[in-house]
Amino acid sequence: MDKLPVNLLALNVQEVTELVYKLGWPRYRLQQILKWLYQHRVSDIDAMTNLSKIDRARLRQVATVQRDDVLSRHIAQDGTGKYVWRLSDGLAVETVLIPEERRRTLCLSSQVGCTLDCGFCLTAQMGIKRNLRAHEIVGQVLNVQADLPEGEHLTSLVFMGMGEPLMNFEAVADAIQRITNMEWGLGFSPRRITVSTAGWIPRFPDVRRLGVNLAISLNATTNAQREHLMPAVNARYNLDTLLNACGEYVKYSERPLTFEYVLLAGINDTPEDAHRLASLLRGIRCKINLIPFNAFSDNSFQRPTPDVIDAFQQIVRNRGLDVFLRKSRGDDVLGACGQLGRSASEMLHPLMRQSKKTLPMYAKS
Ligand code: SF4
Repeated sequence: MDKLPVNLLALNVQEVTELVYKLGWPRYRLQQILKWLYQHRVSDIDAMTNLSKIDRARLRQVATVQRDDVLSRHIAQDGTGKYVWRLSDGLAVETVLIPEERRRTLCLSSQVGCTLDCGFCLTAQMGIKRNLRAHEIVGQVLNVQADLPEGEHLTSLVFMGMGEPLMNFEAVADAIQRITNMEWGLGFSPRRITVSTAGWIPRFPDVRRLGVNLAISLNATTNAQREHLMPAVNARYNLDTLLNACGEYVKYSERPLTFEYVLLAGINDTPEDAHRLASLLRGIRCKINLIPFNAFSDNSFQRPTPDVIDAFQQIVRNRGLDVFLRKSRGDDVLGACGQLGRSASEMLHPLMRQSKKTLPMYAKS
């Protein structure tokens, strides 16, 4: 064996298959190892008790099981949890757990920082540090599941954290394969997974093939607005091109699309915007989530007043579209939509320092 020990979680299925082959083991060992990693979620080769002691010792010589450490865990007053992970190269990335009644939604990151430059998003200010690898994405799920109290399970996963998932598609797809595989993986239904994109349309057909939900971060009703708010992606795929791609997507997809629309006071929240939004999306099978802007420092955008938000929603609803208002969650720990990245770049926001609880992980009694 060369260049070992290797982290088993960092290997894709093909690479684990090759390792089993190199060790001269029968093929069923592959499923056994994968099940220990993803279903039993062990963090030690010695816990793989259906491998003989001799085989475990052989495997230990060439491999380890390593998950990313937690740097900190912040709990907002509404129960939203923000985890900051330390990656093997010292960079950090964030994940947000949103508990609501019996539901447990996990908001996953796909990149450290982001290539795109959406003006209302704190992550954009970091620039791109690097893509996450598949195991660093799956690790967010494994670690948070391990941190939940006994009997609680994650109920849905959304790729709405740091980064543009469709610009790191290979790793995201590999992670989704491990998360959804029923035989040896986490067995998560693809229907409970949503990938959110700023509009990276070349990957739309690939998302459809994965069988997961697709959400589009739209945020504008004219090209001028979108150019102002999301210049990088709009320069590649303008509003017309994006909406055409969305129309094509739903023609061949069982699932409707979701459009996310961050409401920014005085920018995209007028009655004219609401009417234009309804006209643009007419004919596309979809629902719309309105997200009142979540403030962070060094940013001039404002959240609209409740009356303006309500009026906007009413107009769109009266035009016959399914439109929902997303509650802001976790904004006192910068865990809400568009607020991720500050602690990952180790620049703690004053609000976060004041956060009621900052706990080490696994602090449950
Ligand atoms: S909103 Fe999403 S795509 Fe845009 S900069 Fe932020 S993380 Fe990147």
